[in-house]
Amino acid sequence: MTDANHSSPLTPGYPRIGVVLSSGGGRGVYAHTGFLMALESLGLPISAMAGCSAGALVGGMVASGTPLSNWVSTLTTVEKKDFWQPLSLPGFFWRMVGHKGRGISGLSDTQTAQEFCRKNLNAQIFEDCQFPFYALAINLDDGEKIIFSTGELAPRIMASAAIPILYQPVKIDNKYCCDGAVVDFAPTDAICCLQNLDVVIINHVSQSSDGTQSMEQTLSQPWSMLKIIDRLLYRSRPWYLPDERTSSKRVSSQRCPCGCGAIIVVIEPKLPELTWPMTDGGMKILTMARAQTVDLLSPYQTALQIDPRGMLLKQLAEGCESNAQIPVQNKNLDGVL
Ligand SMILES: [Zn+2]
Repeated sequence: MTDANHSSPLTPGYPRIGVVLSSGGGRGVYAHTGFLMALESLGLPISAMAGCSAGALVGGMVASGTPLSNWVSTLTTVEKKDFWQPLSLPGFFWRMVGHKGRGISGLSDTQTAQEFCRKNLNAQIFEDCQFPFYALAINLDDGEKIIFSTGELAPRIMASAAIPILYQPVKIDNKYCCDGAVVDFAPTDAICCLQNLDVVIINHVSQSSDGTQSMEQTLSQPWSMLKIIDRLLYRSRPWYLPDERTSSKRVSSQRCPCGCGAIIVVIEPKLPELTWPMTDGGMKILTMARAQTVDLLSPYQTALQIDPRGMLLKQLAEGCESNAQIPVQNKNLDGVL
């Protein structure tokens, strides 16, 4: 991969901040948007970004140069028909019975959703993004993890977001690809150790709130088939989160385990569920995610802006707040909500 065409928006000497947006379904789309609005209002510019599934969609939008305010306006009016076009019931049964299900690889294709992406992206290819951007998917032919970094954004974003069974896989370079959450929720390795970063902020909104439920409880809920997919995807807690039995922190940190010295900060907001493919309630999630991100990160704003490697880890470990906070810049995004 090459990043020769990318340019950092940062001035020399400013800490390099990487952002990783996790998978998270429909809820994740709104949650990541709120998170990025918070980063903007905290004055924390992004040098590199990676995303998976919902994180690939929102990350791709912002990396392409689409102003957050425009993207938020789009989310206020989006309808499920813009991204979800399942087979008709008669068509589905005909193909299931008449063709023994041959060729059915998912309930909806991704063409409509790809068009939705193209319409809202400011740039159409990775190479024209405002900063290096990466999207995670899995290659169904050999089970390998793929990190997209070149080529057309829309099909690769939708490959990253093609939840198995719900969406048909997307063919990219003759490989069938689907949701990267099958292999990794948050592709930290796409940017950490590769982009000379001082800090990597992971917005983790993947973990299903039903993770502790029994299968009997899952089956008693509406849309239990989707809950089964949830259980499969979210069967293990990712490495970058603290042990939930010993920590209730919603912001945590550690040094990069691969040795580049970057500080990895993870925030895990508490947000309501959003049943697929509904959009009602999405804007409330966005607002909550934005407010929680500001709450969680503003105590560390100075460390993030001045010296993440030196100040941040110590401050986060102590759980103390900076005495020299820089005021949150309330940009005109407030008017959008
Ligand atoms: Zn690293």
